[in-house]
Amino acid sequence: MKRIPFLILSLIISAIQLSGQNQKMNTFIDGLMNKMTLQEKIGQLNQVAPGGWVVTGAVISNNVEEKIVTGKVGSILNSLNPEVTRHAQELAITKSPNKIPILFGLDIIHGYKTIFPIPLAASCSWDLDLIEKSAQIAASEASATGINWTFSPMVDISRDPRWGRVSEGAGEDPWWGSQVAAAWVKGYQGTNLSDERSILACVKHFGIYGAPEGGRDYNTVDMSRLSMYQNYLPPYKAAIDAGVGSVMTSFNVVDGIPSTGNRWLLTDVLRDQWKFNGFVVTDYCSNNEMSTHGLGNLKTVSALALNAGTDMDMVGEGFLTTLEQSLADGTITENQINQACRRILEAKYKLGLFDDPYRYINPERMKKETFTTENRETAKKLAQRSIVLLKNEDQVLPLKKSGTIALIGPLIDSKNDMLGSWVVAGDRENVSTLKQGLTDTGGSSVQIITAKGSEFTDDPYLINSARNPWEKPAPEDPFKKTPEDLLKEAVAVAEKADVIIAAVGESVAWSGEAASRSDITIPQCQQKLLKALKATGKPVVVVIFSGRPMVLSWENENFNTLVEAWQLGSEGGKALADVLFGDYNPSGKLTMSFPRSVGQIPVYYNYLNTGRPMNPNNRFSSKYLDIPNDPLFPFGYGLSYSTFSYSPVELSNPEPSGNEKITASVTIKNTGKYAGEEVAELYISDPVATISRPLKELMGFKKIMLQPGESKKVTFEISAEELKYFHSNLEYTWDPGEFIISIGTNSSNVQSTKIFWNE
Ligand code: BGC
Repeated sequence: MKRIPFLILSLIISAIQLSGQNQKMNTFIDGLMNKMTLQEKIGQLNQVAPGGWVVTGAVISNNVEEKIVTGKVGSILNSLNPEVTRHAQELAITKSPNKIPILFGLDIIHGYKTIFPIPLAASCSWDLDLIEKSAQIAASEASATGINWTFSPMVDISRDPRWGRVSEGAGEDPWWGSQVAAAWVKGYQGTNLSDERSILACVKHFGIYGAPEGGRDYNTVDMSRLSMYQNYLPPYKAAIDAGVGSVMTSFNVVDGIPSTGNRWLLTDVLRDQWKFNGFVVTDYCSNNEMSTHGLGNLKTVSALALNAGTDMDMVGEGFLTTLEQSLADGTITENQINQACRRILEAKYKLGLFDDPYRYINPERMKKETFTTENRETAKKLAQRSIVLLKNEDQVLPLKKSGTIALIGPLIDSKNDMLGSWVVAGDRENVSTLKQGLTDTGGSSVQIITAKGSEFTDDPYLINSARNPWEKPAPEDPFKKTPEDLLKEAVAVAEKADVIIAAVGESVAWSGEAASRSDITIPQCQQKLLKALKATGKPVVVVIFSGRPMVLSWENENFNTLVEAWQLGSEGGKALADVLFGDYNPSGKLTMSFPRSVGQIPVYYNYLNTGRPMNPNNRFSSKYLDIPNDPLFPFGYGLSYSTFSYSPVELSNPEPSGNEKITASVTIKNTGKYAGEEVAELYISDPVATISRPLKELMGFKKIMLQPGESKKVTFEISAEELKYFHSNLEYTWDPGEFIISIGTNSSNVQSTKIFWNE
């Protein structure tokens, strides 16, 4: 008899085990649902927000306790206090009709207590293991306080830095976005959802929320199906393939129908094509907002949402208050309610909440394992790797640990702005600011002198519109310095220094949700400060804090040293100091192109060629008359204190066929003085196809460490899988013929070679 290979045997065994577990779960849920009334089943589809924290929509739920005891609450949003969480769970377990545990959800976007860099920054680390680890830590810290569900990862691809929510995602590229999406999901959920340190992830915002017209949040999205499949849907699909347990709908329309009521999106694509078997939750009141979109009253839109495939209603209570009536009218079926309820109960079962509803509330573990030195060390590592060195023309960096540094700007010592947007439970006290970091790392032989230099902006409209509704305007400061005094003071401080570090950019309130901006240059008052600092004749290091790619053309023209610091989280100051002093050689690379001007947006690397490609000598080519077409800093770009050279690309076979696998290699040499890491990026182009194809597409990367003078060969494996694309009929296949394989240091600087792939 033939022996079955070990791998196949173990796959068969785990499939049998899984089906056994599923059977057990199904039997349990069948039994439970048999006892539940219709009202109770609808109650499971309801998520309430007791209030007291971030309220992004119109509603806060009332009478929450009564709703819990009468079985009208499936989930609670934003329960931050473990005692309140325990109390709510106790009510559900002891007093509700069938004692069904509650799911506690919270936005843990880049860390719980230990705050990691904002996701856009983290994506620039090109370090998937560290991103996964950051999610693991976030899950572990949050779960100890009773949170068992996070509304993360946000994987919306975006090509528009005016949109404030680019800070929450992984940038512009679908391939990279997919890798990052999977890493986040694995980090949060681990290998076993019922482990007390793992939580349920929720991929959002499904779908294509990252392409609102004009970059204005919540705005209309309108694009071809081809572009959806090719550019925007892959990261959601990657999260599904990685096993994400829940999906959040988005605020925007897709093909004219808001995603929350879009059956094509939520059933045809998500369930039928992608085989998603978790549950779908609306975004905050996005069910109710379908009425404003013009799709009917609350009863009509709630029925539409359920029919489309939405399972849980976040805060709006449309499901709770209207589904019974819709069932009586025949606009929905009992089967649909049962199905949605079952999906939510399954998630609770998989989380182990029926075995121990309090398993996630563990004050002991919370004390011991939260915001630990180890967790903060990981946050620092990720922050170091997220920083992108944009320009270092005079080699002013790394700084010497001696002499006097003038640290100037509105961001030199701000904890909040360092933490970043979407921080709900983070430790806001223990945050390493730039000033703190430089002081600690510089040691006693460095003198740090400081001045604020300017406010973020002098524009009262921007200040006012960026304030959250629950924040009162800051009281007038009687000692507030005038802009002139701030400037004078800064120049006087700068005059005393050997080198100036200018910390400029955006306030944290200018990025994230509902934080779109039409002008993403550094505000005028800060530019005025930069001008004055430059006039001192001292070397100036411009450190930019932002939640998005900003337009830095003026800074690039006027300064030779630029560092993109994003919003780096709890350990940001230390990480930045390590980079500025050269204790860490920067290795971050941009995952979103930096435009030269707002008028150039959208600008991204994987664009289609036009019939009249840019030609500076041809008036009638596709170009702007006033600026070049290319971005100021391209996708994949980032410098190191070292330099790296690339050899030409070598192919194992320049004429492969069918499913053959080939390799493409380059040799990379560290030609500089410092040991450092380089991200080698693999791009593939399909110059002759059945539809117009992007100029190039990222298909792989390798991050390697090289000592000065050291060379390493970097090899990528390529198969026909990497050549596939969505055709006009949305079939995902490849066409034999010519391709270009490129490997390089960023999307605009590559070594390329042709390959002919036969059928
Ligand atoms: C945001 C979501 C978030 C939800 C709950 C909404 O306004 O769009 O990303 O998860 O609020 O806080």
